Amino acid sequence: MITRQKSGQLFDKALTLFPGGVNSPVRAFKSVDGVPLFIKKGDGCHIWDEDGNKFIDFCCSWGPLILGHNATSVREKIEQTLQNGTSFGAPTALENELGELIIKNNPFVEKIRFVSSGTEAVMSAIRLARGYTKRDKIIKFDGCYHGHADSLLVKAGSGLATLGTSSSAGVPESFSKETIVLPLNDREAVLKTVKEMGDQIACIIIEPIPANNGLLLQKRDYLEFLRRVCDEHGILLFFDEVISGFRVAFAGAAEYYGITPDIVSYGKIIGGGLPVGAYGASNEIMSHISPLGDVYQAGTLSGNPVAMAAGIAQLTECLKPGFYEDQEDRTKNFVDKINAHSKANGYTFEVFTVGSIFWLAFSDAEVIRSSAEIRAESMEDFKKLYAILLDKGIYLGPSGYEVGFVSKAHTAEILNEVAVKFCAALDELFQS
Ligand SMILES: *Cc1c(COP(=O)(O)O)cnc(C)c1O
Repeated sequence: MITRQKSGQLFDKALTLFPGGVNSPVRAFKSVDGVPLFIKKGDGCHIWDEDGNKFIDFCCSWGPLILGHNATSVREKIEQTLQNGTSFGAPTALENELGELIIKNNPFVEKIRFVSSGTEAVMSAIRLARGYTKRDKIIKFDGCYHGHADSLLVKAGSGLATLGTSSSAGVPESFSKETIVLPLNDREAVLKTVKEMGDQIACIIIEPIPANNGLLLQKRDYLEFLRRVCDEHGILLFFDEVISGFRVAFAGAAEYYGITPDIVSYGKIIGGGLPVGAYGASNEIMSHISPLGDVYQAGTLSGNPVAMAAGIAQLTECLKPGFYEDQEDRTKNFVDKINAHSKANGYTFEVFTVGSIFWLAFSDAEVIRSSAEIRAESMEDFKKLYAILLDKGIYLGPSGYEVGFVSKAHTAEILNEVAVKFCAALDELFQS
């Protein structure tokens, strides 16, 4: 067992300062055993906690660190930018640089606006969709996460009601009734809803690669179907690419699948480990944002120069030829090894993957496309496996509903070593 003495002391202190001892809930380790590990430093694919334990990290700050921890080019660009101060609240050349880098390499965005988080990007873009279409309702899907804005903390209502109910206290029912929640991969549900009220729906928002509630890979033709439905009803197709953007391809799942959304949101990787989000669309749609248009949106620290610098450095690496192919190859190789071992031994366990994202599923289903297909009981197995993996020096996000991320720093050699340890962990779990 790894020692968590210092982490335990720090967590005790944190409990006196922050609700649940954390500043974002999943960090509290509530779905797995023990106190959360307090991380002292990271380098490449490794992290070290305050007790000196060293791990190979597959959480990668929940996705942003596609180059791994403390990447030299990112750190140097941040350090260089810092020499000139940290924030001006006035335009800087760095914003132009990052904006141009993205727009030049992304056919889906003609104009972009930088904000400071994924939540802020989605929230602002929903307002834009409503302002642009002059419609109030939105469709979202059960099993997709879009940050914690009020209109998106909504879950499916019971029975016949297609209107959502809030999934958090503090969200008025009057807000949540503007959000319609449908199951993923269910064409009938979409058709029925747009038939009834298509002319009231501003946008259909989806994670084109749903990766916040397991990895619920959708078929390409389902996404195409959504594109057609939107076109037929004057609804905007909103791809929330906060995870998938710059992850599965530079221009995200839209590029990966070759489907054109009307609005996109980005976060995570875009900021190179600093707080950046963004949303983008055509010139026409984006012209509705203030100061050009009547949809208001602003931010004191939006386009922060240090954060822009980190984004520029990271995305420049991502644009190098073969970057995404290499990410995907290494990940697939790693996953294939584990799956082969699991299958050979008849374990009820499979790793699902796309690009450099993977998800551990205690299932022998060939595909899992909706949240209803995830067995809640399987999270007990995840908890046991999590403890075994930690002991072997492998760190994942502390919840079985979360995905893992492979970075450029996870070399083929390291992934081979991890695969061996991982298979041993599965043996321990299933043979005990
Ligand atoms: C992480 C995430 C968000 C929220 O981003 P924050 O930066 O945590 O506010 C929104 N949408 C998706 C798809 C995400 O993965």
